[in-house]
Amino acid sequence: MGGKSEKKTAADADRHFTPVTYDPQYILMVNGLKKYFPIKGGMITHTVGYVKAVDGVTFNLKRGTTMGLVGESGCGKTTTGRTILRLAGEKTDGQVLFNGQEVYDLSAKEMRPMRTKMQIIFQDPFSSLSPRMPVGEIIGEAVKEHNLVSKEEYSDYLDKVMDDCGLQPFHKDRYPHEFSGGQRQRICIARALALNPEFVVCDEPVSALDVSIQAQIINLLKELQEKRSLTYLFISHDLSVVEHISDVVGVMYLGSLVEYGATEDIFRRPLHPYTEALFSAIPIPDPKAKMNRIVLEGSIPSPANPPSGCKFHTRCAKCTGRCKEETPRQVEVEPGHYVVCHLYDTRVKRS
Ligand code: SF4
Repeated sequence: MGGKSEKKTAADADRHFTPVTYDPQYILMVNGLKKYFPIKGGMITHTVGYVKAVDGVTFNLKRGTTMGLVGESGCGKTTTGRTILRLAGEKTDGQVLFNGQEVYDLSAKEMRPMRTKMQIIFQDPFSSLSPRMPVGEIIGEAVKEHNLVSKEEYSDYLDKVMDDCGLQPFHKDRYPHEFSGGQRQRICIARALALNPEFVVCDEPVSALDVSIQAQIINLLKELQEKRSLTYLFISHDLSVVEHISDVVGVMYLGSLVEYGATEDIFRRPLHPYTEALFSAIPIPDPKAKMNRIVLEGSIPSPANPPSGCKFHTRCAKCTGRCKEETPRQVEVEPGHYVVCHLYDTRVKRS
């Protein structure tokens, strides 16, 4: 099925976002974003359903800040990041405004300069680096491609970017396999930063690294953010790391944001039963402290056939009859702290 018809069929079935207008305080505005993947079946192959990987995600991100995106594996964190960057094909529905520009309205030619402004750092620093290219070429390839600096300035520019990322000039002639995991991730960061981006999706950038190295990379990302006024979308399942690096946090479940707010508010007072369960598993660095871990029943349902009403109701200890029938709406419980749960919605149910 072609991109366009696929987009229409899936979106029309469940379209309910109201277009937003650009607010300059936000570098990124994501509104009702959906990304459905068609499921093919039947004798004559046709679409029999959709995997709703991203299902109506809305948030705004201020310039120079970090948003942590957390949730279990398979909840749609990575697809959200990739859909924002337009790396997952056509979106199904919603808006992605980067500096006020709808990213999906741009032609391939217009998208090229935009690519330098929006970068991604992947989870596995080894497989994301070509083993046949020396590090200097890996970092500088796109700089040349986009003519970001003149030939005369190129070498100094590369040295500067590498130095910012804790790499030495002589590393340019070495190959990825000659580096440790932490250094390889520095190379990936340098490759992204060489394009002078404004926004970077960090997709589990430290989860493949030793704990001792993780801290170095996180500190490097924070330093670079200050130096270059970068904005990060930091995807991770490690809540301690997210707490350390993020200004705001979004909690995802089955393709949707269930809670969103300032890091302090979310960690101090998690509201959604899913967030409570997720956060109850954070280890406490005190051997005498008793952990009140909330164990979730059952496994995460299929995003191809999500439960009716509240998607979390099949695993929620606080589920009521209303939860099974009515989809909860987003409620602002305290300034900037949003939750999608009937427990916090005082509005009377519509008959
Ligand atoms: Fe649980 Fe109901 Fe809230 Fe969903 S809406 S999280 S099922 S209490």
